[in-house]
Amino acid sequence: MLGQMMQGNLLISSLIDHAGRYHTSTEIASVEMDGSVSRSNWGEVQRNSKRLASALTKMGLKTSARCATIAWNNRRHLEIYFGVSSAQFVCHTINPRLFPEQLVYIVNHAEDEVLFIDATFLPLAAALKDKMPTLKAIILMGPRDEAALESVPELQFYDEFIETGDENFVWPDFDENTASSLCYTSGTTGNPKGVLFSHRSTMLHSFAAALPDCIGFSARNIVLPVVPMFHVNAWGTPYAAAMVGCQLVLPGPGLDGSSLLKLIDAEQVDIALGVPTIWQGLLMAAKDSGSTLSSLKRTVVGGSACPPSMIDTFRDVYGVDLIHAWGMTEMSPLGTSNQPLAKHAMLPIEAQRKLRENQGRPPYGIELKIVDENGKDLPCDDVAQGDLLVRGPWVLSGYFKPERDDELRDGWFDTGDVARIDADGYMTICDRSKDIIKSGGEWISSVELENIAVAHPDLLEAAVIGAAHPKWDERPVLVAVKAEGCDPKPDDLIAFFDGKIASWQKPDAVVFTDALPRNATGKVLKRNLRDEFGQVLMG
Ligand code: AMP
Repeated sequence: MLGQMMQGNLLISSLIDHAGRYHTSTEIASVEMDGSVSRSNWGEVQRNSKRLASALTKMGLKTSARCATIAWNNRRHLEIYFGVSSAQFVCHTINPRLFPEQLVYIVNHAEDEVLFIDATFLPLAAALKDKMPTLKAIILMGPRDEAALESVPELQFYDEFIETGDENFVWPDFDENTASSLCYTSGTTGNPKGVLFSHRSTMLHSFAAALPDCIGFSARNIVLPVVPMFHVNAWGTPYAAAMVGCQLVLPGPGLDGSSLLKLIDAEQVDIALGVPTIWQGLLMAAKDSGSTLSSLKRTVVGGSACPPSMIDTFRDVYGVDLIHAWGMTEMSPLGTSNQPLAKHAMLPIEAQRKLRENQGRPPYGIELKIVDENGKDLPCDDVAQGDLLVRGPWVLSGYFKPERDDELRDGWFDTGDVARIDADGYMTICDRSKDIIKSGGEWISSVELENIAVAHPDLLEAAVIGAAHPKWDERPVLVAVKAEGCDPKPDDLIAFFDGKIASWQKPDAVVFTDALPRNATGKVLKRNLRDEFGQVLMG
């Protein structure tokens, strides 16, 4: 017997229609290219996304045509998110920090037909456009700009382009499994791989993100996604924000600590999301300026391991609850978030704090397991560590136009991370499987050592790599970047690990470097560090 409830496709258009109808005047503040703040609202985002959808349809684009963006977090980008996907095209966000060859590869692989760009990226588009033959239109996200036409003569202008569209455009209805957006993983080796999200996966992910134990968005929040809209759809924030109708503050190009600090204080932001390096800059700026970050209640931190010292500073100095979250592009990206259980309130305060340090537990919809090298399930006892596999309705089943066919292991996606999980499902990421240090048959987590090292006041940043060792195969080496005006000694840095970790896990040596090499999403390129320092213990 079937249930007798209405059927309806879960489509992204329903999100913007909801926000436009029930949260019409809720503000979207957006930092423009010149640093000024423009103010629109969900009603205007809805109208402009319909105009855009209509204009793109008039262009004659076919269903599932890819429309790319190279842009900051701003109001036009938000309109593109909703307008493109809702009209049954695919919104392909591109990370501008990629190497030009990778960028060209991605545009050609995706067969992008339209490219929306912020003015910052005009020189990039001018230099590369001839290598991107599928493009039919390049649209500058702003008003008409005669000077810009000199570098790209065929350039069109967003504000004029949407004027050609109809604000009463009627969204098409279609299968919810239709592709909605596309994001390439930057990876550290090989070609970037495309992750193709669907309307259904995006909607289910938004419900999960909004849950109180996940990110916990509500109509009463003022949310600042510092995480870029070109990095896994700003962790799904634009969609979840439309679902609950919260205020958004979009930071534009100013992502340095002091710009963010001013924005948070001026706009009274209460939830902000971003990677650890961003918050490092913010905390330094807050310390220098004396700001107490009075409006901020919660930061959501993920993308790479959040050092416990950062959790402590946010809590103890600013009264901000830091939620450590983990995920990946292939998971839309939310996989786990660290929020306590009721029973934890009974624990001593130190134990409660310790429990908040790991990457957290999965929301409904995500299943996690760890397996050994033979694929055998390992126990969730917070001791066994193994390859982390995941599954769920917003987890990838295969890459876009893949180089190989079967991406899954018995229906599970292999994350490439090594983790341990406790009985309640709280997960600790030990490492990327290729970064874990294998010392004489024992594993050492480079992440754990890095978390300790970055708390040293004389260090700006630190990474730990497995360096070749004649007896133990591999031993940890600390690659350290000194804080300005500081000159720590290697022995003192190694002594800093005393009492914080088993003594056999302490790094064998320290090497200094000026800055850590990072990929386009800010992740440390350990492979480059291994190439440079991987032999320092070989005599
Ligand atoms: P990306 O797809 O670029 O977002 O990268 C996903 C990878 O980032 C994951 O597989 C993890 O290795 C790493 N990652 C993301 N969040 C965290 C976290 N909170 N702690 C440790 N690693 C993380």
